[in-house]
Amino acid sequence: MKLCRFNIDRLGVVEGAMVIDVTPALELLPNCSYPLPRHDLFIEHLEEVKARARELMATAPRLPIDSVSLGSPVANPGKIMAAPVNYTKHLEEAREHAAIHHNNRIEEIRRVGLFLKANSSLVGAGEGVYIRHPGRRNDHEAELVVVIGKRARDLSREAAMACIAGYCSGLDMTTRGPEERSLRKSIDTYSVLGPWLVTSDELTNPHEIDFSLAVNGEIRQRANTRDLVLGIVDLLVLASSFYTLEPGDVLFTGTPEGVGPVVPGDVIVTDFAGIGRMTVAVHGARTG
Ligand code: MN
Repeated sequence: MKLCRFNIDRLGVVEGAMVIDVTPALELLPNCSYPLPRHDLFIEHLEEVKARARELMATAPRLPIDSVSLGSPVANPGKIMAAPVNYTKHLEEAREHAAIHHNNRIEEIRRVGLFLKANSSLVGAGEGVYIRHPGRRNDHEAELVVVIGKRARDLSREAAMACIAGYCSGLDMTTRGPEERSLRKSIDTYSVLGPWLVTSDELTNPHEIDFSLAVNGEIRQRANTRDLVLGIVDLLVLASSFYTLEPGDVLFTGTPEGVGPVVPGDVIVTDFAGIGRMTVAVHGARTG
C-alpha cells in the first residue's frame, strides 16, 4: 500500500494518479497526554491503520494527486539517521573533488558510522526546500529511505528486514562547508521525505531499486541500491547496535555519485522504481 499525508492533516492511499482520502482511519490512534511518546504513533499502528483504510477506500473521496500538497509520510519520527558516503563511486568522486567536502577527510562509512539530522529539518515534497545560505553551495543527495516499523536493538542480520515498515525516497540536502555534517544537513527543510510511504509488503526487494534524480529535467544522479557499500541489512545492524530503533524512525541510506548544486527556482525530481516520482521545488530564503 502507498500511504501519503496531504493538505496538512489528511491521510491518503495513493492509487495511480489519484489519492483516496482515508483520514478517518487515523481515529484509531491512541490519544496521548504529556509527556508525548518519542516515536511515531501512525507507524506504530500501521497494520491497524492499513486494515481500516482498506475498509474506507470503497466509499472514500478521491482527488487527483496533482491537486494536493504532500507532507512528510512520517509526521513525528523519533530520529532521522543517515549514512554518509555509502556508494563506491560517490566515495571516489568525493576524494577526487575535495571541494565537494571542503577538504574534510573522506572516510569509509565502516569507520565513520552514521550521523543524525535534526527532526526540525523534515518536510514533505509539497513544502519544498528553502535555501538558507545562498552564498554557499547547496547540494542535492537522492537517497532511498527506510522507515522503521518496530522497536529494535542489537538486531541480527536475520531479524533486520522484519523491523522495516516501508520505504520512501528522500533528499538529504547539504550545505557544503567545514562544519559538522549534522549542522550542515539539519537546516530547516533540508530533509525531504516522500512522496509517500510504500509499505514493505508491497515493496519486497529494496536491495535492487533503480533510481534517478533530475534538476530542471537534466539527469544528475542515476544508480541502483545494489551498489550500496553498506546495504540495508548492514545499516540496520549498525544503527541498532548504537540506538534503540523506534517505530517511525527513518534511515537515509546514502547517496550515489552525481551530487551537485541547486539554486532557488530549480525543480528537483526523483524517481525510484517501486516508489514513484517526487517533485520538489527549491525556494530562496524563507521570510518570516
Ligand atoms: Mn547523504
